[in-house]
Amino acid sequence: MAAPFIINTRDLARRPGSMRQVALTVAASEPLGSEVIAIPAGTPIHLDLRLEAVSEGVLVTGTASSVATGECVRCLREVTEDVEVDLTELFAYEGTRSQRTVAGDSEDSQDVDPLPVLDGDLLDLEATVTDAVVPSLPFQPLCDPDCAGLCSECGVRLDDAEPDHHHEVLDPRWAALSALASREESEGEEEAPR
Ligand SMILES: [Zn+2]
Ligand SMILES: [Zn+2]
Repeated sequence: MAAPFIINTRDLARRPGSMRQVALTVAASEPLGSEVIAIPAGTPIHLDLRLEAVSEGVLVTGTASSVATGECVRCLREVTEDVEVDLTELFAYEGTRSQRTVAGDSEDSQDVDPLPVLDGDLLDLEATVTDAVVPSLPFQPLCDPDCAGLCSECGVRLDDAEPDHHHEVLDPRWAALSALASREESEGEEEAPR
C-alpha cells in the first residue's frame, strides 16, 4: 500500500544540525476533513518542509497547502476553500529518552501526546498533516459570509432570487381554497384544447 506521506531522512545521518529543505506534492488516500468540508482524496497537497536533525530526533517544520471543497451549510452550493497550515512536529528516534519519557507509565504522561517515532530513517507525516488541516477547516462552510440561504417556502437560493422574493402567507382555510381553485384551473387548461 502506497504511503505518500513517508519521507526518508537517511541523508541527515542523525547528525544534530544537519538539515534539508523538501518540497513535495502528495495526495491523501482518504478525504482530509469533516463531513461538510474536506480536501478530497486524490487532491494534491503541497508540502514545503524543513527537516532538521536534533539530538533526539528529526524536527519537521513547514507548511501544507491544498484546496478543500464542501457545501455551503445555508444554500448547499459548492464551497472551495484554500488551505494553508503550518506544520511543526518532532519525530523521536526509536529508543531515545524523549520517546521513553512520554511513553512511560508515570501518571503525568496520561495527558501528554506521545511524540511520533521514526521508523528507522522514515517518518510518516500523514497524522501531522491531518492534525493540522482538520481544525483549520470551517465547521460551517459558507459560500459567502452573507449567504442568505434558501427560501423556506420554495427552496430557491435567495441570493439568486429577486430581492423582494417572498410568498403570500395565506390563512390555512384560504390555502385550501386556493389549492382547490388552482386544481380546477389546471383541469380547465387540460380541457381547453378540445
Ligand atoms: Zn451559500
Ligand atoms: Zn420562495
